[in-house]
Amino acid sequence: METQTNTMKEVMQAKWKKRPLIISGPCSAETEEQVIETATRLAKTGKVDVLRAGIWKPRTKPGLFEGIGAKGLPWLAQAKKITGLPTTVEVATAKHVEDALAFDVDMLWIGARTTVNPFSVQEVADALKGVDIPVLMKNPINPDLELWSGGLERLQKVGVKQIGMIHRGFSNYGNTEYRNAPMWHLPIEMKRRFPDMPIICDPSHICGNRVMLQSTAQKSIDLDFDGFMIESHIDPDNAWSDAKQQITPERLGEIIDALVWRNETSDKAEFLNALATLREQINHLDDELLTILGQRMKIADKIGEYKRDNNITILQTNRWNEILQKGIQRGAKAGLSEDFITKYFDAVHLESINHQNKIMNS
Ligand code: PEP
Ligand code: MN
Repeated sequence: METQTNTMKEVMQAKWKKRPLIISGPCSAETEEQVIETATRLAKTGKVDVLRAGIWKPRTKPGLFEGIGAKGLPWLAQAKKITGLPTTVEVATAKHVEDALAFDVDMLWIGARTTVNPFSVQEVADALKGVDIPVLMKNPINPDLELWSGGLERLQKVGVKQIGMIHRGFSNYGNTEYRNAPMWHLPIEMKRRFPDMPIICDPSHICGNRVMLQSTAQKSIDLDFDGFMIESHIDPDNAWSDAKQQITPERLGEIIDALVWRNETSDKAEFLNALATLREQINHLDDELLTILGQRMKIADKIGEYKRDNNITILQTNRWNEILQKGIQRGAKAGLSEDFITKYFDAVHLESINHQNKIMNS
């Protein structure tokens, strides 16, 4: 038993370093047969590194399936024995950590509804003191990077050595296209804050459906993510939780096969030179844009002086609509989306108003 556990530890260590790291399995463990058949079919694809299953499910509303509980842990241990796949489960309390470790779970993750709560994160972190297995932390459900960073710091502080992030999107009132909006700039900022920490993408909880999984997974690869957690089920339509977004193990294999892998960089001199020239052009244009924006603000300042001297309000809605409409039309000709133009003009307008406000009240 001792040697078996040690061997699995080595397997997990190797998986932790592998890129891409691919984690898959059901949203929830439901029955022993379901866990074992999912694991067997996932292993058969040859694409999966770690088997996931939710044992304790934090559900938004009461009365839904809240997970099979600790009785599902031996099923995962059995699935590991049959397939050789290391396992991972979500933990939200010290007791979950204790139970998972008692059944030799190889990796743990902290879910989005737990990351939002510093008390819970601290409780889990304290239970992990001296435990030497990888721990992944999902982003909090709300787009608050301080909470996510703070949670990771709590894990670092208790000495967890192998820590990773899972990007699963952010909930928003009125989310429609995505179940949880990806807001890609947020995980990108987390990569900047924690450059040595792996970050994987969970397209299942971002999309909430099957059709967008492929393109979302591809997008994360193009942003240089380190792997995936994707939910899979032997009978997705009849899953006890998250039925709409789960796919069969075979479909998972197809999705992984269809991904296009690009390198973050290349050492080919020709490529590097071309890139350097284009980046130089971009730097130059950015400099020019900033100079021009500065000039624009100086003119706004002058208008502010006239408005002040003639006692006229800063905001004149007609004028603003005119600028925006013209901008959208010209932007379209220049290949810029209406969404971008609107955001751009909103930002410029706000800056202009702040400038004029200062002048008029000076
Ligand atoms: C899950 O992975 O099944 C889960 C509950 O996800 P999240 O914490 O991202 O909501
Ligand atoms: Mn789920």
